[in-house]
Amino acid sequence: MPVAGLGPYDDQNIFARLLRDEIPSRRVYEDAWAVAFHDIAPQAPLHILVVPRGRYVSLADFTREAADAEIAGFFRAVGTVARQFGLEDPGYRILANMGGHGGQEVPHFHVHLFGGAPLGRMIADPALAPS
Ligand code: AMP
Repeated sequence: MPVAGLGPYDDQNIFARLLRDEIPSRRVYEDAWAVAFHDIAPQAPLHILVVPRGRYVSLADFTREAADAEIAGFFRAVGTVARQFGLEDPGYRILANMGGHGGQEVPHFHVHLFGGAPLGRMIADPALAPS
């Protein structure tokens, strides 16, 4: 069920618990700003989630509230993870779901990083395109 991408941060959300090592994850990268780990239900040969260490519900919350250094550090980490997996040459996709229409399910801001194969069209349902 999608969640609202705004509103108060829930310290019990699954990624908050994962950042505190209360639940396991397959971490592939971490630095001062971000942690990256394999998605538990991959939708591409490689499907990594990159999350900021800070308490932000969504992209909207992150871009309103985070310090410039935090935003820069986070997005640099996304690029670093892509490079770490050798994705720059073949290419890859990043995606962030925001709120109800975005289909966001976990209320801790995160970027999906997909790679390892041609990824098809951006939006799977052609009926959504304006005619
Ligand atoms: P979103 O719909 O953008 O909020 O994406 C949430 C993602 O988190 C989904 O792709 C889930 O498969 C993934 N996910 C949920 N729980 C876990 C977990 N414990 N470890 C890794 N990924 C998870």
